[in-house]
Amino acid sequence: MASPKRKSAPSRRFTPARRVRRVIGFAIAGAAVGAAAAITRPYLRYNGVPYDAMIALFVLLPALSLTSLATLRRVRWRWNLFQFGAEQAALTVAFALGITALLLRVFSDLVEVMAAYFAVVFIGGGVLYVVWQWFFPLPRLGPYCPACDYCLIGAGERQCPECGRPFTLDELGLTEAELEPK
Ligand SMILES: [Zn+2]
Repeated sequence: MASPKRKSAPSRRFTPARRVRRVIGFAIAGAAVGAAAAITRPYLRYNGVPYDAMIALFVLLPALSLTSLATLRRVRWRWNLFQFGAEQAALTVAFALGITALLLRVFSDLVEVMAAYFAVVFIGGGVLYVVWQWFFPLPRLGPYCPACDYCLIGAGERQCPECGRPFTLDELGLTEAELEPK
């Protein structure tokens, strides 16, 4: 009765192409939020308060930043901090470009505001991410020894050449071919 386990290992692998695609995706999302803020600006400004910018800065951009953080969970955290920073930078810069391009107006404080946003999100998100990974680690999938992180590609036996821990393809989420040296 056991349902067959579905293996989605290949899609979980964080290839450079996938990293770049994510950065581009967040840049597009940031530009879209910037454009939306610019378009709605005439309708969302009451008593001199630019609610479009408030909604963008305190709701939409943080939601995207958290999405970036939450979906980086499956891969090795050391590299994720760079990836997270790149995605946040793309989001922030694209938002600033989007709002500036559509309003055809350069806000004097835009650079400061966006730099502050980036700093808060990158530092706060980075700390959150490391704490999260530290206290709630997920089993790591990929060609790495679950005990010592040694790269298992090319390991002839089902045992880590570095620390001797036995492993199965199933627990690494890999196929035989993916462990073969290229
Ligand atoms: Zn090992």
